[in-house]
Amino acid sequence: MLDCFKTKIRKPQIKTMPDGREIAKTKAGWEKQRKAVHDRENGYCELCLGLAPLHNTEQAFAGHAHHLTTRKIKDGRPNNLMWLCGRCHSKLHIPTKVIPSKRA
Ligand SMILES: [Zn+2]
Ligand SMILES: [Zn+2]
Repeated sequence: MLDCFKTKIRKPQIKTMPDGREIAKTKAGWEKQRKAVHDRENGYCELCLGLAPLHNTEQAFAGHAHHLTTRKIKDGRPNNLMWLCGRCHSKLHIPTKVIPSKRA
């Protein structure tokens, strides 16, 4: 084996699964998926419409890409991701309490 060939082989950043899911395999792949959602929303939180830049700035903390399906599925397609500011994102991840349903 020639070593010079090995260096050319790079892991794919994003792997597309047979069922269509796109899973980021590297940090760079995830950054790419994050950026796609950020760009779609022009850097504004989808819930409060506040500024949620890609990276921390003096005006605002960086936004988060939130998975609509469970994080276990890891689908990073833009239609499975929401762009949120840190505050809204943490609200979404507060463990939901089981509220006894009121039945008539
Ligand atoms: Zn927000
Ligand atoms: Zn989330």
